[in-house]
Amino acid sequence: AKKLGGDGYHHFASDMHRATQQRMEMESEMRHALEAGEFELHYQPQVGADGVTILGAEVLLRWQHPSRGMVSPGVFIPIAEESMLIAEIDRWVLAAACSQIRAWLDRGVEPVQLSINISAAHFQQRGFVAFVLDTLEHYELAPECIELEITEGALIRDVAFALESLRTLRGKGIRLAIDDFGTGYCSLSYLKAMPIDKLKIDQSFIRDITRSGRDAAIVEVILQLSHQLGLSCIAEGVETTIESSWLKARGCQAYQGYLFYRPMPLHAFDLLLRRATEE
Ligand code: C2E
Ligand code: CA
Ligand code: CA
Ligand code: CA
Repeated sequence: AKKLGGDGYHHFASDMHRATQQRMEMESEMRHALEAGEFELHYQPQVGADGVTILGAEVLLRWQHPSRGMVSPGVFIPIAEESMLIAEIDRWVLAAACSQIRAWLDRGVEPVQLSINISAAHFQQRGFVAFVLDTLEHYELAPECIELEITEGALIRDVAFALESLRTLRGKGIRLAIDDFGTGYCSLSYLKAMPIDKLKIDQSFIRDITRSGRDAAIVEVILQLSHQLGLSCIAEGVETTIESSWLKARGCQAYQGYLFYRPMPLHAFDLLLRRATEE
């Protein structure tokens, strides 16, 4: 073990203390945010190979903090994941998304399928599947209205449990996508066993497809794999026409990224949907 002088140890301890304190502070702020209505949903449309047809949208959480301003989910989701607060946040998002679909239906606006991120810790909770089904029922929605984005990490810890949850959800007609595909530990045998609908290629591979032969090879393999297993596939983080043409030439059917749309607040997405309904 490393020997620290008296002072070194104290510095180390107080740094740890400070980090823990910051995390706890953020946690209680998130708890407050849930009640105070500081969270809101943004929507990022997903388009077909024509680059125009809107196939659906991913729901992305935004936190409008009263003094810190907009806090990125990249910052607060990992902290929420360390406590079980993530389950509460995920449930809030799921209910808010379903309530929004219900509002569109009631107003005669044709909604698109919303993709909702489910964290691994939440997916592994016993009550997860029941909560999803209850929420759909509460808002009187067809299960096809939503798609759940689940990461590879959620599937490998307790494979039997994951399989059963996926089977139940999919049996009801809820679409299932593997998020950040290629970045986790999913082996091909899992892929064969898991009842899923879609692979979502992570943006870390898309970013360099035109520069890195390795990334290009990985993306090509994922596209081929999805075709041959009869799964759909979507590329995330598509930023340039070079990237989209490259993907299109290899049979990619669905796209999400700044090239097409950035995540947008409700009023902007609402306008988009209304225009699509009127056409
Ligand atoms: P993710 O699920 O991989 O979501 C995609 C992220 O990429 C989003 O970041 C999105 O804004 C961003 N993005 C989309 N297109 C582009 C592009 O063309 N270029 C670049 N550079 N980025 C693009 P965001 O909204 O900051 O979310 C970050 C992560 O936070 C998400 O990654 C997801 O893991 C998590 N997250 C967001 N909302 C939720 C939620 O409601 N529940 C849970 N559990 N996690 C969430
Ligand atoms: Ca996602
Ligand atoms: Ca990703
Ligand atoms: Ca890029």
